Amino acid sequence: MTEIAEKIKRLARDRKDFAFESGELREKSGYTLGYERPLIVRCFDSRLDGIFGSFVKENRWSHKDVISLPGGARALASDDPADAASKQAILEAIDVSVRAHDARWILLTIHFDCKGYGVAFPSEEAERERHRSDLATAVRRVREKLPAEFFVEGRYVDGEGIHPV
Ligand SMILES: [Zn+2]
Repeated sequence: MTEIAEKIKRLARDRKDFAFESGELREKSGYTLGYERPLIVRCFDSRLDGIFGSFVKENRWSHKDVISLPGGARALASDDPADAASKQAILEAIDVSVRAHDARWILLTIHFDCKGYGVAFPSEEAERERHRSDLATAVRRVREKLPAEFFVEGRYVDGEGIHPV
């Protein structure tokens, strides 16, 4: 295993040192490689544009790949045949990003009030719980397809930011 891969695994295990909350933290950590080429999977909902725009700016990425489609990472967690095409499209796009753009950090996101779910949740807690569970499943499924040096992360997006779950 390469030194970089070990560092990614170590940082992933010890999240308090994992610096993506701000460019400042990221600089303090001295950790850049692997974040230069992120791949973000997000919902196509334009309400998220400002949040993702700030996030990208804060992290000062010169290059990023974005997979933008209804529901974001939701389809990855679904076993409904109706989601099979979306799931496949995301996995194929991840594959291209990894091969063509050397993406090493795969960020899977799901957001609050997503119409991609097509259901009304009984409460905000129920919605968040479902999203948390779907993110965990989505992360696991993408991890299974990639070698250990890739960092796959799930985050929940709401009106305030992009939060680790
Ligand atoms: Zn959405």
